[in-house]
Amino acid sequence: MDNDRGSIRADFHTHSTASDGTLAPAELIEESARQGLLHVALTDHDTTGGVTEAVEAGKGHGINVIAGIEFSAEVERGELHILGYGIDPEHAGLQERIERLRQLRVSRAERILDRLRELGIDLDPSTIQTEHADDSVGRPHIARALMAAGVVQSVSEGFDRFLGRGKPAFVDKQLVEPSEAIQLIHSAGGLAVVAHPLSLPNPLEVLARLVQHGLDGMECYYGEYDDAQRGALAAMAADLELIPTGGSDYHGPAFREGRDLGAVDIPEDVVRRLLGALGIQTD
Ligand code: AMP
Ligand code: ZN
Ligand code: FE
Ligand code: FE
Repeated sequence: MDNDRGSIRADFHTHSTASDGTLAPAELIEESARQGLLHVALTDHDTTGGVTEAVEAGKGHGINVIAGIEFSAEVERGELHILGYGIDPEHAGLQERIERLRQLRVSRAERILDRLRELGIDLDPSTIQTEHADDSVGRPHIARALMAAGVVQSVSEGFDRFLGRGKPAFVDKQLVEPSEAIQLIHSAGGLAVVAHPLSLPNPLEVLARLVQHGLDGMECYYGEYDDAQRGALAAMAADLELIPTGGSDYHGPAFREGRDLGAVDIPEDVVRRLLGALGIQTD
């Protein structure tokens, strides 16, 4: 194993087929074992549907699986992603909100298919369906269907030509208020963490505001960020007294550069601090 890596290998940002990842939760954990990871948070978009399977698989591989989620929240100039860690997946209030979001994602996917039909692209809706009833459907599923139909050569071409914001088949999805996302995560017993803060045009302003709403942490060690960006974010986390976290945002093999499972070298003290805040013993 690479010597520079922290001795507690962890990845706190991953997706499975319960949302728009391409590996099933158990496959994700098998791959985590191959990568030598000890702690993995499953953070599917708007769903905890993969958590039980991942936790079970983790037991077989000696991997601690953290029950997580990634909410898409609304901010003035776009979308903010908020991760929840250590949540109770059975929490009734959380599940009720998730179920509403799931239904809205299904109707949004139908509207995207309508738009594509108007553009002369007739995708069979059955090719968009997810594996389980509680999975979250997203634009990547439609991009993959466009690929399978030979309309585009890659998922990113699907976003560039049709599905991205401002493109002809773009349809907004339901976003939650950041304060509501934090509150939902807290009510289910979890920690709320802003994901990939550099997606925001004004990260410091938004983070400082969310601290007032009880935000617990921010993702500093992110797959696509370089060392300078990670360092600047870690300094910001220290100033704001937020828990720094890290993860790859893995969506399956060959998704995007920097997004390989376990590829982010999260400093050991950062891993220990987050695990400590989640009540997980490391020694
Ligand atoms: P949705 O939740 O349906 O709005 O889809 C958003 C997801 O699509 C993100 O979490 C990414 O996984 C993926 N995505 C967004 N933009 C792109 C892009 N340009 N190329 C490939 N995947 C993308
Ligand atoms: Zn995604
Ligand atoms: Fe995200
Ligand atoms: Fe993500």
